[in-house]
Amino acid sequence: MANKISKRMAFLARGLAIAAALLTAEAGSAWADGTPAKQLFGGMKLPARAAPAPYGSYAKGCIAGAVAIPVDGPNWQAMRLSRNRRWGHPDMIALLERLSREAPGIGWPGILIGDVSQPRGGPMLSGHASHQVGLDADVWLTPMPQRRLSAQEREDLPFTSMLKENKFLTVNDKVWTPAHARLIMLAASYPQVERVFVNPAIKKKLCDTWTGDRSALGKVRPIYGHDAHFHIRIGCPAGASGCKPQAAVGAGDGCDKSLAWWFTDEPWAKPKKDPNAKPPKPPRPMQLSDMPKACAAVLQAPSPDSEMAATFGGTAVSALAAMPANNNDAVPAIAAQMPELPDVVPIPLPRPAGY
Ligand SMILES: [Zn+2]
Repeated sequence: MANKISKRMAFLARGLAIAAALLTAEAGSAWADGTPAKQLFGGMKLPARAAPAPYGSYAKGCIAGAVAIPVDGPNWQAMRLSRNRRWGHPDMIALLERLSREAPGIGWPGILIGDVSQPRGGPMLSGHASHQVGLDADVWLTPMPQRRLSAQEREDLPFTSMLKENKFLTVNDKVWTPAHARLIMLAASYPQVERVFVNPAIKKKLCDTWTGDRSALGKVRPIYGHDAHFHIRIGCPAGASGCKPQAAVGAGDGCDKSLAWWFTDEPWAKPKKDPNAKPPKPPRPMQLSDMPKACAAVLQAPSPDSEMAATFGGTAVSALAAMPANNNDAVPAIAAQMPELPDVVPIPLPRPAGY
């Protein structure tokens, strides 16, 4: 049975490679009308039926063969279901499942899962700049309630910020607990995890209070926002040659001048305006032609028969995980540092190295 499935999937993977070659030849003529890539990817309901393979980088890429994390697990509940962003590389989904399983052991009852990726990854109509290749996931800093939330509650439950309302970059000890610290550090401790993004105030809190093993603390990176959820990023899976990695974080715990910078005015200052300058052109939205060529094929590939057929934990993951990665995109050998971009805050320059 498994052999039959993997043969079938290998056939489909080959089909995807052929489709990629055809589309490359046509240079994306199907979507040459300037439709922003976020509309193309944001409209996808189901993944590309193929071997799991991320293409491109965290903030410019897509994924074939994504699987969905089930809406509910023993120790997790997926949130904001209407967004249809429960999709990820099987390695990412397996990691979330592991985090949820190990959370009760550190005093966290279970996890509320936010956005992973869209069914075929790619840019989104709202929200993140990253989360495009199925290797990023958001986890709420709110513990999972003991009862199952209704679908409506999962839409409506407000985020709880860990910050004091009227105080600059300060964690609110009325909501923050040592279990929050343990959950973030547990996520950072997994070898596949390359970065965990948190608000600078949360990073500082960890720097000031974490007395356990600090070897994973350097992976916890300060960034705008991320005061009510944290963001887990895993590295490119083994053999995923279409996946563009990030440079590893530097040695050390990151409780240094790169963190101190966030507590200066510079990251928060509005960019200076030249009154005589022409108003800047709005940035051109990412086009399919800006993305790795394989992403055109990912968009065109057939879907699995149903969402259920591509949901983690069933036959989907056992068949998919056993398959070699399908990679038909040449990858530059140079690792790029892709910053986690904020949704609204302007990005000041220069930034300290290491983001
Ligand atoms: Zn995120």
